[in-house]
Amino acid sequence: MPAVAPELIDLLICPACHGDIEYKERRNLIICTSCGLHYPVRDGIPVMLVEEATRPTSRRGRSASSGAGEDRGSDARPAS
Ligand SMILES: [Zn+2]
Repeated sequence: MPAVAPELIDLLICPACHGDIEYKERRNLIICTSCGLHYPVRDGIPVMLVEEATRPTSRRGRSASSGAGEDRGSDARPAS
């Protein structure tokens, strides 16, 4: 599993909020320290796309109303 170059991590910002990101090598994941989106890393290439990002359980109970093309229907979550 190739690791992401640290100098690349330095250059990357979150495309959603332009915040700093953090590379979690053990999880092969990039996490925005600002908005908390998780970006996948594929073959050592960070996939910095909002569409590819996953949002962990929202702590603030506020769903992203800006809705970056969220796929409704196929993965309907019950509103808690
Ligand atoms: Zn962000």
